[in-house]
Amino acid sequence: MSNFYVELQAAFADHADGDCLRLADGGVWRYSDVTAYVARLGSVLREQGVEPGDRVVVQVEKSAENLCLYLATLCVGGVYVPLNTAYTSAELDYFVGDAEPRLFVGAQPRSDVASLTLDAAGQGSLIDAMPGQAEIEIAERTSDDLAAILYTSGTTGRSKGAMLTHGNLASNAHGLSNAWGWQSDDVLLHALPIFHVHGLFISSHCALLNGTPMVFLPKFNAAEVMAMLGQCTVMMGVPTFYTRLLAEPAFPAASLDHIRVFICGSAPLTEQVFEEWQARTGHRILERYGMSETIINTTNPLDGERIPATVGYALPGLELRVADDNGVPVPAGEVGTIEVRGPSVFSGYWRMPDKTAEEIREDGYFITGDLGTLAEDGRLAIVGRAKDLVITGGYNVYPKEVERLLDDMPEVQESAVIGVPHADFGEGVVAVVVPAGKAVALTDIDAALADQLARFKQPKQVINVDSLPRNTMGKVQKNLLREQYADLFSD
Ligand code: AMP
Repeated sequence: MSNFYVELQAAFADHADGDCLRLADGGVWRYSDVTAYVARLGSVLREQGVEPGDRVVVQVEKSAENLCLYLATLCVGGVYVPLNTAYTSAELDYFVGDAEPRLFVGAQPRSDVASLTLDAAGQGSLIDAMPGQAEIEIAERTSDDLAAILYTSGTTGRSKGAMLTHGNLASNAHGLSNAWGWQSDDVLLHALPIFHVHGLFISSHCALLNGTPMVFLPKFNAAEVMAMLGQCTVMMGVPTFYTRLLAEPAFPAASLDHIRVFICGSAPLTEQVFEEWQARTGHRILERYGMSETIINTTNPLDGERIPATVGYALPGLELRVADDNGVPVPAGEVGTIEVRGPSVFSGYWRMPDKTAEEIREDGYFITGDLGTLAEDGRLAIVGRAKDLVITGGYNVYPKEVERLLDDMPEVQESAVIGVPHADFGEGVVAVVVPAGKAVALTDIDAALADQLARFKQPKQVINVDSLPRNTMGKVQKNLLREQYADLFSD
């Protein structure tokens, strides 16, 4: 039996009296509490008819109950489909239509699918439906069975659902726990959202698999994190967490010598931030590289040298190559596309066999779309993205999705969306537009996109131009725009 929850459950049983979740309000969920709650939620899911393989789409604020809902879905063999809480109802329609869930859990019920509610306080009809107590049998699953679908933004504007199996989750959880030397007395600071691979799998699994506590914060708040770091030994975050903490004049409030490791990923960490962090805290941030489709690919070493602007070495068991367009490895030091193959690599895109075939080669290598260089000793550095993905505050924005909506505006003739350096978000979304008449104002764009697009995807600045730079093939040269407006947020 290879249901990943079997392994987690065994760890929970071994640490039944230990703390699992320490909440900001002082509340504590022990591992025995989590086990009991998962059983009760699991019985609600079964009651709702969730059978192995059925999707459960969840768009709720982070809470202990939300984490238990994820575990309960694994337990009954369902396929967990978390969605960013920032998605608007127009976006949600697409995900629900595509995933065809047996059950939707959100802040509000939907009319087109069986729904239960769960709010930020962990209350709602899902909770009301729970029996007082429940025993639950864990559903049998093989390691190839689906455990989750994580939607990534599609380059064409259509999101792709990356299908992850129980085997993917288990192998990566073990790989990370070993690579980062998880210890029985570790306490993880968890301020990441749990609708994304970073917070849901990468961070939580290390703690859960080892039965160790997490300080579980609903969102990142610099003052709160500073106050909590005293009781933690590991922090995982996106670069924005690190820049925001450094922006606090009082940081660090106290010595951080007790911290074992600060881990960073989801977007590039600049050398500047790496060095300032070291100067202020004495710690060299451990940067790693992952994605929804593969969980974690590479990591800087825990014991060896952590080099800024590199993402370290492939996890044991993962094969990695930097290749040309035909998948042939390029010489060490030369730029190529990063491709990976191994036990944590997803099995394909949900109901998109063509996309899957485009991105997973016949020899099993997944073409990540990231550009990098591989040193002789196997150390990887990411130099850019083949796709024009913008990463803002750790979240991905695919320009195409924004451009299509901008182009629909009567005030806009055409548009190009780019990401340029932003001290707080890493990159800020910028709309470069050719106006149809008078200059387009940011307020016009805000008004047009408010109900269409999550806030983080909406442009933070608009630039009006006479025409967009294009190459001879007619493609907009976004690299030129990025260079031209590189200082937009730093002036
Ligand atoms: P997501 O699927 O949201 O996790 O986004 C994955 C993408 O984030 C990758 O394909 C990379 O482009 C980017 N990414 C993740 N970690 C790093 C990192 N350490 N440095 C640079 N880019 C990263």
